[in-house]
Amino acid sequence: MYDVIIIGGGPAGLSAGIYTSRLGGKTLLLEKLTPGGQITLSSEIENYPGICDVKSGVELMACWPNQAKKFGCEIKSEEAKELKIENGKFRIITSNNEYKAKAVIVATGSTPKKAGFEGEDKFIGRGVSYCAVCDGFFYKDKVVAVIGGGDTALEEALYLSQIAKKVYLIHRRDKFRAAPITQKKVFENEKIEIIYNAIVKKAYGNKFLEGIILLQKNKEIDLKVDGVFVFVGMKVNNELIKDLVELNEYGEVKVNLKMETSLKGLYAAGDIREDSVKQVVAAAGDGATAGINAMKLIQKEEE
Ligand code: FAD
Ligand code: NAP
Repeated sequence: MYDVIIIGGGPAGLSAGIYTSRLGGKTLLLEKLTPGGQITLSSEIENYPGICDVKSGVELMACWPNQAKKFGCEIKSEEAKELKIENGKFRIITSNNEYKAKAVIVATGSTPKKAGFEGEDKFIGRGVSYCAVCDGFFYKDKVVAVIGGGDTALEEALYLSQIAKKVYLIHRRDKFRAAPITQKKVFENEKIEIIYNAIVKKAYGNKFLEGIILLQKNKEIDLKVDGVFVFVGMKVNNELIKDLVELNEYGEVKVNLKMETSLKGLYAAGDIREDSVKQVVAAAGDGATAGINAMKLIQKEEE
């Protein structure tokens, strides 16, 4: 029986593991891939406090697993497949094993959906981005394209227009689904040029992205851009707990300020929770909050 099992080894999960194990909790962290989380996809991060030079996501996350292990946190490369409750305790089933815990912290994150054009994967972190707050600054006075027609695409296009020289907003239809007030701001913004009824067919370049080929009514358009921001929806990784806890309308887990979900002993931290600002520093803070509160609950129950 573990005190705490953490599912997900991104910034939220690893930070939770550092706190629970350092507080003396017998902790197991399950990560289906290599620990580090989605920031390891980014070639540059410069907004995590305490780092004065730009680092890659891999560099930033390199010592987090060791820091957790130093305090006794066990880290296993296994995917949590099922989460069950039995007599007030949690049972987690992976492909090979079953584990039990008094408290569980779910930190499985969310995954930006891909648009699906040729070269999208090749240029991730080298011109293709899924996060304007993270990467926008690298395109200061440059030309960028934003893909999507929802609230996120339009809000991020407005944000990028404050940094970039020009923003092309590319939407596959001729009507946006974003809120009317946001649409109005976009229409009034001189730096944003809207291209309707177009999809990105292909991204090209050498080491870094140099442009994209659009397909508009069977016509190909070559657009020279320095960056492409893809905002075509997010997939919240809530499969394990979606039937156990309250979610908001977007499938994000509802939590209180202690990162407690609607189910006692079950915590959610990082990108998976509602109103997350989806940043490494925030995810790490959530993990610490969840870890401390999970340990407090266990101690209270044992007294
Ligand atoms: P994640 O980092 O998504 O970690 C979740 C982990 O859970 C993953 O490792 C996943 O493999 C694992 N997992 C999922 N399901 C299971 C399961 N069933 N069993 C076991 N493991 C599971 N933020 C910034 O602050 N600054 C930036 O500059 C920045 N740049 C970014 C650039 C890119 C390209 C991307 C994609 C994101 C960027 N972000 C940036 C956002 C940042 O990466 C996220 O906010 C942060 O990683 C969220 O942390 P998390 O721990 O909640 O989730
Ligand atoms: P979304 O509303 O699902 O919009 C995704 C957009 O991407 C749609 O316009 C869609 O086109 C387009 N798209 C999907 N797949 C595509 C592909 N393969 N290629 C090109 N375009 C593609 O996603 P979101 O904008 O991330 O918003 C998610 C939810 O959060 C929404 O409910 C939104 O209202 C909410 N949200 C709210 C706020 C706010 O209230 N301020 C801010 C952000 C998000 P179609 O229109 O043709 O389907």
